[in-house]
This record gives sequence, structure tokens and C-alpha cells, in this order.
Amino acid sequence: MAAGEVSMTNPNGQLMITYRCSAACRHCLVMAEPEQERTVMSVEDAVRWGLEYAKLGRHVMIAGGEALLFYKQVLAMCAALKARGVPVAFIESNGSWCRSDELTKRRLTRLREAGVEGMYFSVDPYHQEFVPAERVCRGSRIAKELFGEDQVYAPNPTLEEAGDLETVAGDPERLREYARSRRVSFIGRAADALTGFADPVPLAGLLEQDCRKDLDVDHLREIQVDPFGFVRPDMCPGVNLGNANQQPLAELGCTQRVCEVLLLRELAERGPASLLPLAEPAGFKPRSTYASKCHLCFEIRRHLVRRMPDELGPPHAYALVRG
Ligand code: SF4
Repeated sequence: MAAGEVSMTNPNGQLMITYRCSAACRHCLVMAEPEQERTVMSVEDAVRWGLEYAKLGRHVMIAGGEALLFYKQVLAMCAALKARGVPVAFIESNGSWCRSDELTKRRLTRLREAGVEGMYFSVDPYHQEFVPAERVCRGSRIAKELFGEDQVYAPNPTLEEAGDLETVAGDPERLREYARSRRVSFIGRAADALTGFADPVPLAGLLEQDCRKDLDVDHLREIQVDPFGFVRPDMCPGVNLGNANQQPLAELGCTQRVCEVLLLRELAERGPASLLPLAEPAGFKPRSTYASKCHLCFEIRRHLVRRMPDELGPPHAYALVRG
């Protein structure tokens, strides 16, 4: 596989540069939305952490929120990383900014010149509830012309298919069918917006599930660092391996780190059951059912985050802070 090829299987290091987004998708793990504050990762941090990802053998990718709401900042990050020999493998975008062919071509051309090797466009009913199909199809089409077919990932990229996803978003029955046919983690906004589509699972069964595989960081396809420096598996935002402002990211983004930190080690071995003894004295009363173990984990963490901001923060990942 070529370095930087847009792929779901490459080990990636994500620079999650903002919680701000042009959309507020129902499945968003990090609660990104237009109301999130405008905090954006600095170019200096992006370069520092991009170089650390390279030490871990991970391709650097940029995401948000909607990273390209901050196009100039992203362009500067990409150019600075390219100058240090670490080109950005791809940028993830919802395509909401692709308002015309001219604008889309100009921006993507400049990103390519700044070393970006590919694009990933999000296309599904959750995104198409907010982003017109025509825009994301334009982004995907022009990106393929500029970066090459293999360097652009966009499922269902035809206008008809993306247009149909808009219809799914507006039809509760079809959306239920869609949500039930795909894996949903039920954390972030999905904990509030999609659990109604899931079969309830009794608490007792969830308390027996561990997270060994989910926290085997060395073998995870993607880890992420957010604008505040929190490093975590990309599927567990709020389960922090540490803060890259205090310790080199390359020391945090590994399974060894999970073994070293009691809270993480317990979470790996005993799953969300290990968090209950912390949450119950703080007033958390578990329900009899949840949609999944991650749903239970998220609800416990949402209850605890103000008391444990370093371990479980930032509050933005629980939409407890607004811009
Ligand atoms: S239960 Fe928590 S730690 Fe385990 S995989 Fe889900 S979000 Fe991650």
C-alpha cells in the first residue's frame, strides 16, 4: 500500500483540530456542531504532534469537527508539515464548503500543493441531513480529478445516491433501518439522538464486557489528538491516554501507556464496570438498560467529566461547553 493512500486500514494519527462544525450529525462521536467554541489547534501544535505521529509510524490526517471551516489554518499546517518531511495523508471533510466548482478547485489545488495526498468525504444520511448532496459530490468529483481516483474516499459518491441519503435522513423509518444495519457506538451525540433505534441491553450483561481490544492502542487504526492536547483512541473520545502538552504524544499513543495508568488499565480489563465505583458516590444511578457498553461508558463519563477533566475531558466532547 502506498504511503498516504486514503484507506480505512492504514494506521493513522488524527489531528482533530476543532470541535466546531457546519453540521450537528446525529452519530457524531465528538459532539461537533456550529455552537461549539471556535478553538482551533495551532500550527505549531499540529507540526509538533504530526512529527510525533510519524515516530509512531502513523500517517497524519486532519479532521474535526469540520476542519476546513479553518481553511487557511489547515493550509498553513499542511505546508509546515510538508516542509518537515511529513506530508498530510488526507483531510476529512463533510464538503459543506464546496459551494462552487471554482472555489472547490482553488482550495483543493492549494492543499495539494501544500503536500496533502488525498481527501476523505463523509457521505451518509447523518451528514446529508445538513450538507446538500450536490456539494459533497462536487468535492469528491473535483478531488478525484486533482488527487487521483485512489486518493479520494467517498462512499456512495454519485449525486443520485447522495441525494437518496438526504431522503433517508428525513424519513424516520428509513433512518431507523439504516442505523440498525450499521455499527453505532452510541457515544457523543448518538447517545442522545440514536439510542431510540437500538435494542436495549440489560445492564448486567454490559458490566461483564471488557475493552481490551478497544484500548490495544498499538493495533488501533486511528488515534487522535484534540485542540487541547488530549490523546485518545478515535472511537473513545474522552478516554484520555494523556495530554500531549505535558508528555510527548509518541509516549502516550501506545498500549504500554494503558498498562501504566490505573484508570485505563482497569477500563481495558473490566470495561465500564470499572468506572461505576467512581460514579456512584458522585450521584450516578445506572439505568436498567443501555444501547451498548460504550453508551453506558459515555453516560458515566458525562457525569464524571467535571470532576475528572484531565482523565475524561474536555467537556466539549460531551457538549457541555458552547461557543
Ligand atoms: S466502553 Fe468506553 S473505553 Fe470501552 S470501547 Fe467503549 S468508549 Fe471505549
